[in-house]
Amino acid sequence: MDIREIYKDTGISESVYEYCESVLETLKERFEKIDRIAEYNQLKVLNAFRKNRVSAEHFAATSGYGYNDAGRDTLERIYADVFGSEDALVRSQITCGTHALCVAMSAVVRPGDEILSPVGKPYDTLEEVIGIRPSAGSLAENGVTYRQAELRSDGSFDYPAIKAAINERTKLIEIQRSKGYDSRPTFSVEQIGELISFIRSVKPEVICMVDNCYGEFVETKEPSQAGADMVVGSLIKNPGGGLAPAGGYICGTKECIDLAARRLTSPGLGREVGANLGTNPAFYEGFFLAPVVTAGAEKGAIFAAALYEKLGFEVYPKSETERYDIIQAVTLGSEAYMRAFCEGIQAASPVDSFVKPIPEAMPGYNDPVIMAAGDFVQGSSIELSADGPVRPPYQIYFQGGITWYHAKVGIMMSLQKLVDAGFHL
Ligand SMILES: *Cc1c(COP(=O)(O)O)cnc(C)c1O
Repeated sequence: MDIREIYKDTGISESVYEYCESVLETLKERFEKIDRIAEYNQLKVLNAFRKNRVSAEHFAATSGYGYNDAGRDTLERIYADVFGSEDALVRSQITCGTHALCVAMSAVVRPGDEILSPVGKPYDTLEEVIGIRPSAGSLAENGVTYRQAELRSDGSFDYPAIKAAINERTKLIEIQRSKGYDSRPTFSVEQIGELISFIRSVKPEVICMVDNCYGEFVETKEPSQAGADMVVGSLIKNPGGGLAPAGGYICGTKECIDLAARRLTSPGLGREVGANLGTNPAFYEGFFLAPVVTAGAEKGAIFAAALYEKLGFEVYPKSETERYDIIQAVTLGSEAYMRAFCEGIQAASPVDSFVKPIPEAMPGYNDPVIMAAGDFVQGSSIELSADGPVRPPYQIYFQGGITWYHAKVGIMMSLQKLVDAGFHL
């Protein structure tokens, strides 16, 4: 077997291959640490399956109202156990991460309440949910106000500013764990825990919600184990393990989850309704695989960081930095390189490898967005994908890869396309 031959057949030149392998040589210790975390989390998930006595009956499809759906209810117990929360809502009826966050926020605020983000501006799509950008049906239209405390220039929490922003109307604290499309640090669970403790010392009764997108299983603890009342995410990111065809989750206190269920379905119905429509096998198996899938994606992010850093590009986070999510930003400096990078990711995809990504306007986003993804599940970003708003400094956000080897070849192909576009190794 000659591994170089198959890379050559895949379209990776010898010089790109050699360069990438030399970078990988330096990452062995990093990867070992990631494997240890994956091992820990694999057992955590396995133990939750065992404790909840998962059996074949839990994989059965339900229809109609979905009353007495043992598979759905048991999966929610498993999520609660893994996240160390009292309760959980895990549903295919939650259409995406933004919807999960919208349900969670809308569930707990009432007219006259205020939402505070203590970590600067929230994720792009939440601007319309909250009404930071005016939008029909937003929380702002329903009499909910919003405030944010900016991070300090070094990316740390500005405690005096946070304290000053908390008032008698502050009801909900929205903490985004991952940097999203921003240039600021992703916060560790420990840091989030400190932030929540501080906020509770100012106003004990606020509800603290964490947007956990892309953070699940990167550490051995989740923010619900550091004081968060609600932790929210998408099943087509880490916890779906690449298999969940859609869906979102909210893990949290009994009270918050009950309110969220009432918001998702209806007051009076709550969590009792919501047929699983056959999604359970994928939800269960995907969650079971998620620790290892997340680890592969994290390796991909670190590989991309180390590679592009060595090539002289600005990367964020730096390759040596401790990671708390699976997103890697690379500042490519021009639309042309952004396109080339995305062409590489696309060409290395199992689905739609022949497609050429082009920037386009997207609902919920301010600028045109370029996206590369050849997904089994549409838009799934635990699968190998790259995207970014096309605006200076032309930063691409790379994430995913349901196997490490796929993430690896995707990154190699991105460099190959840059070289093809005139970049000199
Ligand atoms: C992806 C993401 C969201 C929104 O999730 P969608 O599934 O795209 O709606 C929200 N917050 C963060 C930090 C994200 O990464």
